[in-house]
Amino acid sequence: MTGEGGGRDDSQPHSQPHSQPHRQSYPQAGNAQVSRRPLGILAALPQELGDLIEAMRAESGVRTVTHGRRDYHLGTVHGAPCVVTLARVGKVAAAATVSALIHAFDVEAVVFTGVAGGVGDSVRVGDIVVANALLQHDMDASPLFARFEVPLLGMSRFAADAALAAQLAEACERFVAEEGAAAAARFGTREPRVHRGLIVSGDQFVASSAGVLALREALPDALAVEMEGAALAQVCHEYGVPCAVVRTISDTADDHAPSSFVSFLTEIAGAYSNAILARFLKARGAR
Ligand code: SAH
Repeated sequence: MTGEGGGRDDSQPHSQPHSQPHRQSYPQAGNAQVSRRPLGILAALPQELGDLIEAMRAESGVRTVTHGRRDYHLGTVHGAPCVVTLARVGKVAAAATVSALIHAFDVEAVVFTGVAGGVGDSVRVGDIVVANALLQHDMDASPLFARFEVPLLGMSRFAADAALAAQLAEACERFVAEEGAAAAARFGTREPRVHRGLIVSGDQFVASSAGVLALREALPDALAVEMEGAALAQVCHEYGVPCAVVRTISDTADDHAPSSFVSFLTEIAGAYSNAILARFLKARGAR
């Protein structure tokens, strides 16, 4: 038994054909069963989820299902039925995880939360970027296909769901208005700004001035670089599932990136994630 909401159940998703997603039941406060389809929430690394699973445990209890070597935590958090999981790092990991969220857990929509390297001129450590669109910056089948285009899909930019991204950005703006100054003082960053625009993803931790310059030259409108978002956006596009990505800037993808990333991840990422997700989920749970 893993949680007070019903315990671990490894077998069920495997036994369901993909054409008939398994309908999980979701622990929630009180005894009523939630009929709404859940929201999938994922991050690459545990620090990026903050205290979300603990908050779920306290609110509704958690049922944990292991599937494809990942733990999926089912429950209600801030009033919203959710499946929370860790993808681990990279595009394949993100694609595999979001695919399971769609097929085995029947999520209504997917939100990715995490940290990223700042690429845009005005993007600083401690800022927040909400994606309007995502692109795989290491996709290059030229000269057969245009650089960045996903072969046979004919696309390079995958849009985030406009409504979901707007709700996420609104949660970020509220966090900044209510706690931005305190967060800046506490973490020694400037007061956070919220940016909306292009996030680029690749199987590469970008950590050199040359690397970030090359990205800026090739993709002048890129605001942030990370390793999962565009893979998730591609899978969500293919299945028609709304998705959104929010990234707090942990580094500026230059030579200082490794140390900036590690200290931000260990000291700050969880606090941002808690503050943003609490506001986003409360608004969603109140629908
Ligand atoms: N094993 C390392 C892996 C971190 S890789 C660790 O646990 O410490 C960096 C992670 O943060 C990825 O998930 C990526 O999405 C994000 N990220 C932050 N800064 C990045 C940068 N400059 N370039 C690429 N990804 C970055």
